[in-house]
Amino acid sequence: MSKKIALFIIMSSLVLISCEFLKKTYNSGSEAVSNVNVFAYTQDIELGKQVQQEIASNPKDFPILPKASNQKIYAYIEQLKSTILNSGQIKYRTEFAWEISIIDDDKTLNAFATPGGYIYIYTGLIKFLDSEDQLIGVLGHEMAHSDRRHSTRQLTKSLGLSMLLDAVLGQRDAVEQILGQLAGLKFSRSNEREADEYSVKYLCNSSYNSDGAAGFFQKLADQPSPPEFLSTHPSPDNRVENMATLETTLNCKGSETNVSRYNQMKALLN
Ligand SMILES: [Zn+2]
Repeated sequence: MSKKIALFIIMSSLVLISCEFLKKTYNSGSEAVSNVNVFAYTQDIELGKQVQQEIASNPKDFPILPKASNQKIYAYIEQLKSTILNSGQIKYRTEFAWEISIIDDDKTLNAFATPGGYIYIYTGLIKFLDSEDQLIGVLGHEMAHSDRRHSTRQLTKSLGLSMLLDAVLGQRDAVEQILGQLAGLKFSRSNEREADEYSVKYLCNSSYNSDGAAGFFQKLADQPSPPEFLSTHPSPDNRVENMATLETTLNCKGSETNVSRYNQMKALLN
């Protein structure tokens, strides 16, 4: 792998974790405001549909791996999704779409969720991960952003309510603006922590190691040349430790990581 590509991967990976590290200036006052969601959950559903359509109509920027010719890998991810949906912890289990798409882009190490439960995972992220518990952990983290409705709250803050309402009504400019922000949306530190925690809760009664997402964050931190930002701004929230502590506190018993099955699945992408 060339240095350039390696750097790109590391930089891209920052998108996922940036939410926590970049949000330095932040006070409890704005946090209180950010926790008020003036959007109705039904509007999350509408907004999600608009964004999903916009993504589907833009294969250049979002080359979705076709479902018809990739049935095995989609069936595999659907199974992981079902485990989370059946955890009894998803508030909008029947209301939101919970539709997962894979974006065929090996250079991007990212995943994102729209309001209303459309989840997008890049092949770059799937290939970077080592085991099934890591993937299901990251999936849980993203699903939590939708289910806890962090996205609409954050978008309201960054773009304003009227932009979101325009998007709900299908105004193309507004939908495009929202889509432009979603993949790199920087959530508040508390939203990130909550998504991490729910990722553990969703898996706590399953056979999986429930802090799989922490394995991913640890792997990022363990890269041979971590971006300077990571070394100079250690996570104030100790996200890996927090997840491990929650796993113990909740007495989660699962330990499966399923490395070999995960590798078989990854091979389908080559
Ligand atoms: Zn997040």
